Amino acid sequence: QPDEAVVRRALAPTRQAVFWTEDAPGDPYPRLTGDHSCDLAVVGGGYTGLWTALLAKREDPSARVVLLEGRRVGWAASGRNGGFCEASLTH
Ligand SMILES: Cc1cc2nc3c(=O)[nH]c(=O)nc-3n(C[C@H](O)[C@H](O)[C@H](O)COP(=O)(O)OP(=O)(O)OC[C@H]3O[C@@H](n4cnc5c(N)ncnc54)[C@H](O)[C@@H]3O)c2cc1C
Repeated sequence: QPDEAVVRRALAPTRQAVFWTEDAPGDPYPRLTGDHSCDLAVVGGGYTGLWTALLAKREDPSARVVLLEGRRVGWAASGRNGGFCEASLTH
């Protein structure tokens, strides 16, 4: 194992950040307040919520679909994964 000082020096010019969201635009939406009504409210702006909202709109373009995200789109697992796209991880 290398000396801790060597590791610290090597990592000094780095910073921890999420690769996938590095160049994502900032959150342009204001915080939602007040009462609202819609046909479908989807909670969570990860892959599951985004695809649910997209498919619902594709199914019925006139439907009022609201996507509610507590932090920012892709904040959780969807913005931090390894990027593997396979039919199976057990092969
Ligand atoms: C380290 C890591 C590596 C991975 N690598 C891979 C990979 O290489 N390939 C692969 O296929 N999969 C991978 N996965 C799995 C994959 O990323 C997840 O299965 C997938 O992103 C889950 O998507 P999701 O939309 O269900 O959940 P999430 O992405 O977790 O989204 C849920 C969202 O809901 C929001 N939310 C939760 N509660 C509320 C609330 N009450 N109100 C408003 N918003 C709320 C959260 O803020 C979050 O944005 C990885 C996961 C991790 C953590």
